[in-house]
Amino acid sequence: MALTVCFWGTRGNVMSVARERLIYGGHTTCLSVRHDHEMLIVDAGFGLANFLECLSTETPLSRGGHKFNLLLSHFHWDHIQGLSYFVPIYFPGNEIVIHSPFEREVVTEILNLLFDGSYSPFNGLDSLPCTWTFRKLEHGSEIGSFRVDFHETAHIGETYAFRLVTEAGSIVVATDHDASRTQINDSLVDWAQGCDMLIHSAMYTPREHQQLGGFGHSSFIEAVRNAERINAAHTLLTHHAPLRTDGELAEMEHNLQHMYNTDTRRLSFAKEGEIYIVR
Ligand SMILES: [Zn+2]
Ligand SMILES: [Zn+2]
Repeated sequence: MALTVCFWGTRGNVMSVARERLIYGGHTTCLSVRHDHEMLIVDAGFGLANFLECLSTETPLSRGGHKFNLLLSHFHWDHIQGLSYFVPIYFPGNEIVIHSPFEREVVTEILNLLFDGSYSPFNGLDSLPCTWTFRKLEHGSEIGSFRVDFHETAHIGETYAFRLVTEAGSIVVATDHDASRTQINDSLVDWAQGCDMLIHSAMYTPREHQQLGGFGHSSFIEAVRNAERINAAHTLLTHHAPLRTDGELAEMEHNLQHMYNTDTRRLSFAKEGEIYIVR
């Protein structure tokens, strides 16, 4: 049974869809992980809208009866705003199960704001036709055939990385993490050891990182250093800076691959719409 990852949004902070950003993608963070017929969605940036375009051709969403398991790492806009445009929430019979290490009250309070009548035509989660279910993740929680663990990242505000383990392999997703914060980074690196695929924050050049004081994200060089330490077979760098063009990203990717790739490990910049086989 194959384990695959598809990116629906790879951009950090803010959506930036333009001709020069079509290859690596301009929508904010969202990815899906498939293991056989089961699927988890990680984070609900604007990529969630892309996700639906694909899905709606396979399964008419208006029929209802669909269940989506969504993991939320934190609540910055670029990780939740796509939820408002997630078509299944507008049809009865669909269930959205939100899994997160945060307390249920925290999750519902924040997500209710997304549907506050001031920002949307709805008034709170309960005014939508779908069913919402909230599950607080514990270490080693099981969601179908996935075993899910989490670890705090070095970001701004409480934020988590996820480790998704199946019999077909394991994935660590740490999209918002500043690897220069040594103590928490060392702990995260230990925790991530042995994963088959690492999805890691890499937003800045070292110079930008220094100028911005990190601001909760890693430089390319720190991300590569973490990839070396964790030694995943495939590392995907994501959360691309909003205005970085395809040309700039391709050049950086090429340079990093030259210094990092070996016969047993490789590194790529995540591309929107691309499906990656984990193992
Ligand atoms: Zn982010
Ligand atoms: Zn963030």
